[in-house]
Amino acid sequence: MAAERRVSGTRPRIDAARLVADLETLARFGATERGGVARVAYSPADLEARDWLDAQLTGLGLEVRRDPVGTTIAVLAGTEPGLAPIAVGSHTDTVPEGGRYDGALGVVAALACARAIAAGGPSLRHPLAVVDFEAEEATMGGATLASRAMTGALDEAALARPAYDGAPAAEHLRRAGLDPAKVAAAALRRGAFAAFLELHIEQGATLEADGVPIAVVQGIVGIRRFEVAFTGSAAHAGTTPMQDRDDALVAAAPFVVAVRDIAIEQGLVGTVGTLRVHPGAPSVVPGRVVMDVELRSTDETRLDAAEEQLARRAAGMGGEAVRLSAKAPAPFAPPLLAMLEDVCRASGLEHRRMWSGAGHDAGVLTAITDAAMLFVPSRAGISHNAAEFTEPRDCVRGARALLDWIVAVDGAR
Ligand SMILES: [Zn+2]
Repeated sequence: MAAERRVSGTRPRIDAARLVADLETLARFGATERGGVARVAYSPADLEARDWLDAQLTGLGLEVRRDPVGTTIAVLAGTEPGLAPIAVGSHTDTVPEGGRYDGALGVVAALACARAIAAGGPSLRHPLAVVDFEAEEATMGGATLASRAMTGALDEAALARPAYDGAPAAEHLRRAGLDPAKVAAAALRRGAFAAFLELHIEQGATLEADGVPIAVVQGIVGIRRFEVAFTGSAAHAGTTPMQDRDDALVAAAPFVVAVRDIAIEQGLVGTVGTLRVHPGAPSVVPGRVVMDVELRSTDETRLDAAEEQLARRAAGMGGEAVRLSAKAPAPFAPPLLAMLEDVCRASGLEHRRMWSGAGHDAGVLTAITDAAMLFVPSRAGISHNAAEFTEPRDCVRGARALLDWIVAVDGAR
Protein backbone atom coordinates (compact mmCIF):
# COMPACT_ATOMS: atom_id res chain seq x y z
CA MET A 1 0.00 0.00 0.00
CA ALA A 2 2.73 2.38 0.99
CA ALA A 3 4.66 1.63 -2.17
CA GLU A 4 1.70 2.53 -4.40
CA ARG A 5 1.50 5.99 -2.90
CA ARG A 6 5.17 6.70 -3.43
CA VAL A 7 5.58 9.57 -5.80
CA SER A 8 8.60 8.82 -7.91
CA GLY A 9 12.09 7.41 -7.92
CA THR A 10 13.39 3.92 -7.27
CA ARG A 11 13.32 2.22 -3.89
CA PRO A 12 15.89 3.97 -1.69
CA ARG A 13 18.67 1.76 -0.27
CA ILE A 14 20.95 2.04 2.73
CA ASP A 15 24.66 2.24 1.87
CA ALA A 16 25.86 -0.31 4.44
CA ALA A 17 29.59 0.34 4.04
CA ARG A 18 29.07 4.07 4.40
CA LEU A 19 26.93 3.59 7.51
CA VAL A 20 29.66 1.56 9.21
CA ALA A 21 32.31 4.08 8.12
CA ASP A 22 30.21 6.97 9.49
CA LEU A 23 29.93 5.19 12.85
CA GLU A 24 33.73 4.87 12.90
CA THR A 25 34.19 8.53 12.00
CA LEU A 26 31.74 9.74 14.62
CA ALA A 27 33.49 7.59 17.28
CA ARG A 28 36.72 9.55 16.69
CA PHE A 29 35.19 12.69 18.23
CA GLY A 30 35.96 12.27 21.92
CA ALA A 31 37.60 8.85 21.42
CA THR A 32 39.13 7.46 24.63
CA GLU A 33 42.18 5.23 24.99
CA ARG A 34 39.98 2.37 26.12
CA GLY A 35 38.03 2.42 22.85
CA GLY A 36 35.05 4.33 24.20
CA VAL A 37 33.77 7.84 23.67
CA ALA A 38 33.79 10.87 25.99
CA ARG A 39 31.47 13.32 24.27
CA VAL A 40 29.50 15.01 27.01
CA ALA A 41 26.94 17.57 25.85
CA TYR A 42 28.40 21.00 24.96
CA SER A 43 32.01 19.78 25.29
CA PRO A 44 34.42 20.60 22.45
CA ALA A 45 34.22 16.97 21.24
CA ASP A 46 30.41 17.14 21.20
CA LEU A 47 30.42 20.40 19.25
CA GLU A 48 33.00 19.11 16.76
CA ALA A 49 30.94 15.95 16.17
CA ARG A 50 27.87 18.10 15.54
CA ASP A 51 29.77 20.26 13.05
CA TRP A 52 30.82 17.09 11.23
CA LEU A 53 27.23 15.85 11.13
CA ASP A 54 25.90 19.22 9.94
CA ALA A 55 28.45 19.19 7.11
CA GLN A 56 27.31 15.71 6.02
CA LEU A 57 23.66 16.77 6.05
CA THR A 58 24.35 20.04 4.23
CA GLY A 59 26.28 18.07 1.61
CA LEU A 60 23.20 15.95 0.97
CA GLY A 61 21.11 19.06 0.32
CA LEU A 62 19.33 19.24 3.67
CA GLU A 63 18.58 22.60 5.23
CA VAL A 64 20.37 22.49 8.57
CA ARG A 65 19.59 24.55 11.67
CA ARG A 66 20.35 24.33 15.38
CA ASP A 67 17.64 25.04 17.91
CA PRO A 68 18.25 27.23 21.01
CA VAL A 69 19.66 24.30 23.05
CA GLY A 70 21.93 23.08 20.26
CA THR A 71 19.86 20.30 18.69
CA THR A 72 20.45 19.83 14.98
CA ILE A 73 17.28 19.78 12.89
CA ALA A 74 18.02 19.16 9.21
CA VAL A 75 15.22 19.04 6.66
CA LEU A 76 15.10 17.40 3.23
CA ALA A 77 12.19 18.76 1.19
CA GLY A 78 9.32 16.49 0.23
CA THR A 79 7.17 16.57 -2.89
CA GLU A 80 3.86 17.57 -1.35
CA PRO A 81 3.67 21.10 0.03
CA GLY A 82 2.25 21.70 3.48
CA LEU A 83 3.04 18.33 5.04
CA ALA A 84 4.91 18.19 8.36
CA PRO A 85 8.27 16.40 8.27
CA ILE A 86 8.73 12.79 9.29
CA ALA A 87 11.50 13.13 11.87
CA VAL A 88 14.18 10.51 12.56
CA GLY A 89 17.21 10.62 14.80
CA SER A 90 18.66 10.21 18.27
CA HIS A 91 21.54 11.88 20.14
CA THR A 92 25.32 12.15 19.73
CA ASP A 93 26.17 13.28 23.28
CA THR A 94 27.45 10.56 25.63
CA VAL A 95 27.97 9.96 29.33
CA PRO A 96 31.48 10.98 30.54
CA GLU A 97 32.80 7.50 29.65
CA GLY A 98 30.40 6.14 27.08
CA GLY A 99 30.42 3.82 24.11
CA ARG A 100 30.26 4.20 20.34
CA TYR A 101 26.66 3.17 19.72
CA ASP A 102 24.31 4.68 22.32
CA GLY A 103 22.56 7.46 20.41
CA ALA A 104 25.23 7.53 17.71
CA LEU A 105 23.68 4.60 15.83
CA GLY A 106 20.29 6.32 15.59
CA VAL A 107 21.84 9.52 14.25
CA VAL A 108 24.12 7.80 11.74
CA ALA A 109 21.20 5.62 10.60
CA ALA A 110 19.06 8.74 10.13
CA LEU A 111 21.90 10.23 8.08
CA ALA A 112 22.02 7.01 6.02
CA CYS A 113 18.26 7.25 5.41
CA ALA A 114 18.61 10.88 4.29
CA ARG A 115 21.45 9.84 1.98
CA ALA A 116 19.37 7.00 0.52
CA ILE A 117 16.35 9.23 -0.06
CA ALA A 118 18.34 12.21 -1.37
CA ALA A 119 20.26 10.01 -3.82
CA GLY A 120 17.19 9.15 -5.86
CA GLY A 121 15.92 12.71 -6.04
CA PRO A 122 12.90 13.81 -4.03
CA SER A 123 10.71 10.77 -3.53
CA LEU A 124 8.91 11.23 -0.22
CA ARG A 125 5.69 13.18 0.01
CA HIS A 126 6.71 14.47 3.44
CA PRO A 127 9.87 16.37 4.21
CA LEU A 128 12.38 14.24 6.15
CA ALA A 129 13.88 15.81 9.29
CA VAL A 130 17.10 14.40 10.73
CA VAL A 131 17.29 15.31 14.43
CA ASP A 132 20.40 15.07 16.64
CA PHE A 133 19.24 15.88 20.17
CA GLU A 134 21.62 17.63 22.61
CA ALA A 135 22.17 16.41 26.18
CA GLU A 136 20.09 13.24 26.09
CA GLU A 137 22.30 11.74 28.79
CA ALA A 138 21.74 12.86 32.38
CA THR A 139 24.84 15.09 32.43
CA MET A 140 23.09 18.47 32.52
CA GLY A 141 21.10 18.13 35.76
CA GLY A 142 18.62 15.68 34.24
CA ALA A 143 18.28 13.55 31.11
CA THR A 144 16.68 14.35 27.70
CA LEU A 145 17.30 18.08 28.07
CA ALA A 146 16.79 18.99 24.40
CA SER A 147 13.69 16.88 23.79
CA ARG A 148 12.13 18.36 26.93
CA ALA A 149 12.97 21.81 25.57
CA MET A 150 11.36 20.81 22.26
CA THR A 151 8.13 19.88 24.03
CA GLY A 152 8.14 23.12 26.04
CA ALA A 153 8.82 21.26 29.29
CA LEU A 154 12.13 22.96 30.08
CA ASP A 155 12.53 26.49 31.39
CA GLU A 156 15.52 28.63 32.16
CA ALA A 157 15.25 27.80 35.87
CA ALA A 158 15.91 24.10 35.13
CA LEU A 159 19.25 25.13 33.63
CA ALA A 160 20.38 26.48 37.00
CA ARG A 161 20.70 22.89 38.24
CA PRO A 162 24.25 21.58 38.53
CA ALA A 163 25.63 19.61 35.62
CA TYR A 164 27.79 16.48 36.10
CA ASP A 165 30.82 18.64 36.90
CA GLY A 166 29.06 20.84 39.47
CA ALA A 167 28.75 23.92 37.23
CA PRO A 168 25.21 25.02 36.34
CA ALA A 169 23.92 23.53 33.10
CA ALA A 170 23.35 27.10 31.88
CA GLU A 171 27.11 27.69 32.09
CA HIS A 172 27.73 24.79 29.69
CA LEU A 173 25.23 26.24 27.21
CA ARG A 174 26.89 29.64 27.45
CA ARG A 175 30.34 28.17 26.84
CA ALA A 176 28.90 26.51 23.73
CA GLY A 177 27.72 29.92 22.49
CA LEU A 178 24.06 29.37 23.39
CA ASP A 179 21.80 31.71 25.37
CA PRO A 180 20.04 29.94 28.28
CA ALA A 181 17.42 32.72 28.34
CA LYS A 182 16.20 31.54 24.93
CA VAL A 183 15.48 27.91 25.88
CA ALA A 184 11.70 28.43 25.68
CA ALA A 185 12.07 29.23 21.97
CA ALA A 186 13.09 25.59 21.36
CA ALA A 187 9.47 24.49 21.90
CA LEU A 188 7.67 23.11 18.86
CA ARG A 189 3.89 23.00 18.48
CA ARG A 190 2.04 19.67 18.49
CA GLY A 191 2.01 18.39 14.93
CA ALA A 192 5.31 20.07 13.98
CA PHE A 193 6.40 16.55 12.99
CA ALA A 194 4.20 13.99 11.24
CA ALA A 195 5.95 11.33 13.37
CA PHE A 196 9.26 10.72 15.17
CA LEU A 197 11.12 7.44 14.71
CA GLU A 198 14.24 6.52 16.70
CA LEU A 199 16.58 3.58 16.18
CA HIS A 200 18.61 2.77 19.31
CA ILE A 201 20.67 -0.03 20.80
CA GLU A 202 18.82 -2.10 23.39
CA GLN A 203 21.33 -1.43 26.25
CA GLY A 204 20.10 -4.70 27.72
CA ALA A 205 20.82 -8.30 26.83
CA THR A 206 17.44 -9.82 25.97
CA LEU A 207 17.63 -9.54 22.17
CA GLU A 208 21.12 -11.03 22.02
CA ALA A 209 20.22 -13.79 24.49
CA ASP A 210 17.20 -14.83 22.44
CA GLY A 211 18.80 -14.30 19.03
CA VAL A 212 16.16 -11.76 17.96
CA PRO A 213 17.60 -9.06 15.65
CA ILE A 214 14.99 -6.31 16.14
CA ALA A 215 12.54 -5.13 18.76
CA VAL A 216 9.50 -2.95 18.18
CA VAL A 217 9.53 -0.77 21.29
CA GLN A 218 6.04 -0.27 22.71
CA GLY A 219 6.90 2.58 25.02
CA ILE A 220 9.08 3.86 27.84
CA VAL A 221 8.44 2.68 31.37
CA GLY A 222 7.16 5.05 34.04
CA ILE A 223 9.64 5.95 36.77
CA ARG A 224 8.93 7.13 40.30
CA ARG A 225 11.65 8.19 42.71
CA PHE A 226 11.37 8.55 46.47
CA GLU A 227 13.58 9.62 49.32
CA VAL A 228 13.05 7.49 52.40
CA ALA A 229 14.55 8.58 55.72
CA PHE A 230 14.97 6.76 59.02
CA THR A 231 15.92 8.77 62.07
CA GLY A 232 17.47 7.28 65.21
CA SER A 233 19.99 8.68 67.60
CA ALA A 234 23.73 8.94 67.00
CA ALA A 235 25.77 7.48 69.86
CA HIS A 236 29.25 6.25 70.76
CA ALA A 237 29.80 2.81 69.22
CA GLY A 238 32.04 1.72 72.10
CA THR A 239 30.15 2.91 75.15
CA THR A 240 26.47 2.54 74.17
CA PRO A 241 25.11 -0.90 75.11
CA MET A 242 23.17 -2.76 72.41
CA GLN A 243 19.84 -2.57 74.24
CA ASP A 244 20.12 1.23 74.60
CA ARG A 245 20.66 1.99 70.91
CA ASP A 246 18.32 3.71 68.48
CA ASP A 247 20.25 2.69 65.34
CA ALA A 248 18.78 4.28 62.20
CA LEU A 249 20.53 1.83 59.87
CA VAL A 250 19.21 -1.20 61.75
CA ALA A 251 15.73 0.31 61.37
CA ALA A 252 16.32 0.98 57.67
CA ALA A 253 17.76 -2.44 56.78
CA PRO A 254 14.44 -4.37 56.67
CA PHE A 255 12.97 -1.63 54.49
CA VAL A 256 15.57 -2.35 51.75
CA VAL A 257 14.31 -5.93 51.71
CA ALA A 258 10.70 -4.68 51.77
CA VAL A 259 11.30 -2.69 48.56
CA ARG A 260 12.36 -5.88 46.85
CA ASP A 261 9.32 -7.76 48.19
CA ILE A 262 6.88 -5.01 47.15
CA ALA A 263 8.38 -4.95 43.66
CA ILE A 264 8.03 -8.72 43.27
CA GLU A 265 4.48 -8.65 44.64
CA GLN A 266 3.37 -5.80 42.33
CA GLY A 267 5.15 -7.16 39.26
CA LEU A 268 7.47 -4.21 38.68
CA VAL A 269 11.11 -3.35 39.39
CA GLY A 270 12.17 -1.53 42.54
CA THR A 271 15.64 -0.49 43.61
CA VAL A 272 17.33 1.11 46.58
CA GLY A 273 20.23 2.69 44.70
CA THR A 274 21.78 4.92 47.35
CA LEU A 275 22.15 4.81 51.10
CA ARG A 276 23.49 7.77 53.04
CA VAL A 277 24.44 6.94 56.62
CA HIS A 278 24.90 9.86 59.03
CA PRO A 279 27.10 10.87 60.65
CA GLY A 280 28.94 8.07 58.83
CA ALA A 281 31.87 6.97 60.98
CA PRO A 282 32.96 3.49 62.15
CA SER A 283 32.81 4.62 65.77
CA VAL A 284 29.32 6.13 65.69
CA VAL A 285 25.93 4.40 65.88
CA PRO A 286 24.03 5.73 62.81
CA GLY A 287 21.67 8.56 63.75
CA ARG A 288 20.03 9.02 60.40
CA VAL A 289 19.77 7.06 57.13
CA VAL A 290 18.48 8.47 53.87
CA MET A 291 17.98 6.30 50.79
CA ASP A 292 16.81 6.80 47.22
CA VAL A 293 14.17 4.35 46.09
CA GLU A 294 13.10 3.96 42.50
CA LEU A 295 10.14 2.09 41.00
CA ARG A 296 9.72 1.41 37.26
CA SER A 297 6.76 -0.07 35.42
CA THR A 298 4.76 0.16 32.20
CA ASP A 299 1.59 0.22 34.29
CA GLU A 300 0.49 3.30 36.22
CA THR A 301 -1.88 1.35 38.49
CA ARG A 302 0.93 -0.97 39.59
CA LEU A 303 3.08 2.07 40.33
CA ASP A 304 0.24 3.55 42.39
CA ALA A 305 -0.19 0.32 44.35
CA ALA A 306 3.54 -0.07 44.95
CA GLU A 307 3.88 3.55 46.03
CA GLU A 308 1.05 3.18 48.51
CA GLN A 309 2.61 0.01 49.96
CA LEU A 310 6.04 1.58 50.07
CA ALA A 311 4.79 4.57 52.08
CA ARG A 312 2.84 2.32 54.46
CA ARG A 313 5.77 -0.07 55.06
CA ALA A 314 8.18 2.84 55.60
CA ALA A 315 5.84 4.42 58.16
CA GLY A 316 5.35 1.05 59.87
CA MET A 317 9.11 0.74 60.30
CA GLY A 318 9.48 4.26 61.66
CA GLY A 319 10.62 5.85 58.40
CA GLU A 320 9.24 8.53 56.14
CA ALA A 321 8.89 8.33 52.36
CA VAL A 322 8.70 11.45 50.17
CA ARG A 323 8.09 11.26 46.44
CA LEU A 324 10.79 13.17 44.52
CA SER A 325 9.58 12.68 40.97
CA ALA A 326 7.10 10.76 38.84
CA LYS A 327 7.41 10.14 35.13
CA ALA A 328 4.35 8.47 33.65
CA PRO A 329 4.80 5.52 31.28
CA ALA A 330 5.05 6.83 27.70
CA PRO A 331 3.37 4.38 25.32
CA PHE A 332 4.26 4.74 21.65
CA ALA A 333 1.73 5.23 18.83
CA PRO A 334 0.13 1.85 17.98
CA PRO A 335 -0.21 2.62 14.23
CA LEU A 336 3.54 3.32 14.01
CA LEU A 337 4.28 0.04 15.82
CA ALA A 338 2.02 -1.88 13.44
CA MET A 339 3.79 -0.32 10.45
CA LEU A 340 7.16 -1.29 11.86
CA GLU A 341 5.95 -4.86 12.35
CA ASP A 342 4.75 -4.90 8.73
CA VAL A 343 8.16 -3.68 7.62
CA CYS A 344 9.91 -6.45 9.60
CA ARG A 345 7.56 -9.10 8.24
CA ALA A 346 7.98 -7.85 4.66
CA SER A 347 11.76 -8.22 4.92
CA GLY A 348 11.60 -11.55 6.76
CA LEU A 349 13.11 -10.04 9.89
CA GLU A 350 12.29 -11.83 13.12
CA HIS A 351 11.10 -9.27 15.68
CA ARG A 352 9.44 -8.91 19.04
CA ARG A 353 7.67 -6.24 21.03
CA MET A 354 9.20 -4.95 24.24
CA TRP A 355 9.11 -1.97 26.61
CA SER A 356 12.14 0.17 27.23
CA GLY A 357 13.32 0.29 30.83
CA ALA A 358 15.54 3.25 29.94
CA GLY A 359 14.40 6.74 29.04
CA HIS A 360 14.81 8.10 25.49
CA ASP A 361 14.06 11.28 23.55
CA ALA A 362 11.30 9.44 21.65
CA GLY A 363 9.43 8.95 24.94
CA VAL A 364 9.57 12.68 25.68
CA LEU A 365 8.46 13.57 22.15
CA THR A 366 5.19 11.64 22.59
CA ALA A 367 3.98 14.92 24.16
CA ILE A 368 3.99 16.64 20.74
CA THR A 369 3.90 13.91 18.09
CA ASP A 370 3.29 10.23 17.41
CA ALA A 371 6.59 8.55 18.18
CA ALA A 372 8.08 5.07 18.28
CA MET A 373 11.41 3.28 18.51
CA LEU A 374 13.16 0.17 17.37
CA PHE A 375 15.98 -1.58 19.20
CA VAL A 376 18.85 -3.66 17.88
CA PRO A 377 20.93 -6.01 20.10
CA SER A 378 23.68 -4.83 22.44
CA ARG A 379 26.51 -7.32 23.00
CA ALA A 380 26.15 -8.73 26.54
CA GLY A 381 23.77 -5.85 27.25
CA ILE A 382 26.75 -3.59 28.00
CA SER A 383 26.13 0.15 27.61
CA HIS A 384 27.46 3.44 29.00
CA ASN A 385 30.82 1.70 28.78
CA ALA A 386 33.75 1.57 26.35
CA ALA A 387 32.90 -2.10 25.67
CA GLU A 388 29.50 -1.19 24.21
CA PHE A 389 29.13 -3.04 20.89
CA THR A 390 26.52 -3.83 18.29
CA GLU A 391 27.34 -6.04 15.30
CA PRO A 392 27.65 -4.05 12.04
CA ARG A 393 25.13 -6.49 10.57
CA ASP A 394 22.60 -5.47 13.23
CA CYS A 395 23.34 -1.76 12.76
CA VAL A 396 22.62 -2.11 9.04
CA ARG A 397 19.46 -4.15 9.65
CA GLY A 398 18.21 -1.45 11.99
CA ALA A 399 18.92 1.30 9.46
CA ARG A 400 17.15 -0.65 6.70
CA ALA A 401 14.10 -1.17 8.89
CA LEU A 402 14.17 2.54 9.77
CA LEU A 403 14.23 3.49 6.08
CA ASP A 404 11.39 1.10 5.18
CA TRP A 405 9.47 2.46 8.14
CA ILE A 406 9.91 6.07 6.93
CA VAL A 407 8.58 5.04 3.51
CA ALA A 408 5.61 3.26 5.12
CA VAL A 409 4.76 6.25 7.32
CA ASP A 410 5.11 8.54 4.29
CA GLY A 411 2.53 6.50 2.42
CA ALA A 412 0.13 6.22 5.33
CA ARG A 413 -0.34 9.74 6.66
ZN1 LIG B 1 20.80 6.83 24.15
